[in-house]
Amino acid sequence: MSPVSRDAIAERALRARPTTMLDVAQALELVLQHARSPAPTRVSLSRALGLALAEDVRSDIDSPPHDKALVDGYAVRAADLAGGTGELRVVEEVTAGAVPTHTITQGAATRIMTGAPIPAGADAVVMVEQTELHDSATEVNGAIVKIAAPKVTSGQNILPRAASMKRGEIVLRAGCRIRAIEAGLLAEFGRAEVSAIPRPSVALLATGNELVPADATPAPGQIRNSNGPMLAALADAAGADVTDLGIAPDNEASLSAAIRDALTRDVAVLSGGVSAGVLDLVPAVLARLGVEQVFHKVRLKPGMPLWFGTLEKDNRKRLVFGLPGNPVSSLVCFELFVKPALRALAGRSDVAHDTRAARLATEHQQRGDRATYWPATLQREGNESTVQLLGWKGSADLATLAAADCLAVFPPGTERFPVGTTIEVVLL
Ligand code: AMP
Ligand code: MG
Repeated sequence: MSPVSRDAIAERALRARPTTMLDVAQALELVLQHARSPAPTRVSLSRALGLALAEDVRSDIDSPPHDKALVDGYAVRAADLAGGTGELRVVEEVTAGAVPTHTITQGAATRIMTGAPIPAGADAVVMVEQTELHDSATEVNGAIVKIAAPKVTSGQNILPRAASMKRGEIVLRAGCRIRAIEAGLLAEFGRAEVSAIPRPSVALLATGNELVPADATPAPGQIRNSNGPMLAALADAAGADVTDLGIAPDNEASLSAAIRDALTRDVAVLSGGVSAGVLDLVPAVLARLGVEQVFHKVRLKPGMPLWFGTLEKDNRKRLVFGLPGNPVSSLVCFELFVKPALRALAGRSDVAHDTRAARLATEHQQRGDRATYWPATLQREGNESTVQLLGWKGSADLATLAAADCLAVFPPGTERFPVGTTIEVVLL
């Protein structure tokens, strides 16, 4: 047996080393390639908030359905009130929900309330504050009303039929996110039920022998599980249906059982156990459970050990994220990768994290081959935003993050970023 040459050993080592650690954009692209939204379902309007609409919705009516009074007052013929003044005889009163029965002819007016249909013949409404009914009138019908408006022009205080939307026009397009406004619009156009992409389900699992829940007093060597509640809040805010599976200790049996449970959801978000420590067992357990690794490690700081894979089950692809355990790393990885994935699964068209350009108010020396996402605060000054870096003490320092509203992005490489440099920030 010939001895293995030094060169061969070096070459093998080189091959074994991941020479092409992904950068953030490449990793995100891979995540999004696997994040396909499920088939739409029909949901009632009251359950649709936050979901993406899966159909174009057309108006089934003209809106408004009739020429409509925009104020309480009198429907008149503008031609009767040259100069804005005059006296008219009231022929009827029409409140919202009622239908006028009289045509307005010369010298006549209809007392009308906001929203009510404009009677035929009228072409303007004078607001009630610019009118006075004759004292002697005991009944509105037949009474004389004195008009004293600055002027009365044809069309004033009237919203014409279909001014807002014509019957058959598209009100909302597939892909739009249903917020409160869209819920109101859908109701206006008769859609008590819509086709929408269901909320993705997310299971959370914190892993680590050292972890105890928030309501426990840590014994020596222990820390509290801050990732669980933080990730639950992030996933919830991203519109997911969240199940928090709590804490699993670092042994294969416990991890297997808990992760198996997590894999019943669309997305499993695990934290901890994906680095190079002796008890970082998560990737091996995932492999044994049939989860296929898509990538492990990203050129990112904090968050380099991020693990991502998928599992095809029941004709659906489950996504699995193994976030590094340090809370700031977990947060950054969630923002950069999990949130866009959840948005994509939810059928949203705007999946990328929210970014903005801003000028540095603090200088920064960038080093190394990983992009840095540095906790910072954003100030708006007119059209310009400036970004102030926080005195951040690394991946475990969640306390400093409480003051942050964004992450300042510095690309890989060795470079000094002087004050005033325009950089990208990711909004939190
Ligand atoms: P790991 O990724 O498991 O190597 O953990 C890295 C660091 O993050 C360690 O100091 C852990 O104690 C800490 N850590 C792991 N999980 C959590 C968690 N759920 N909450 C707070 N800190 C954690
Ligand atoms: Mg750990």
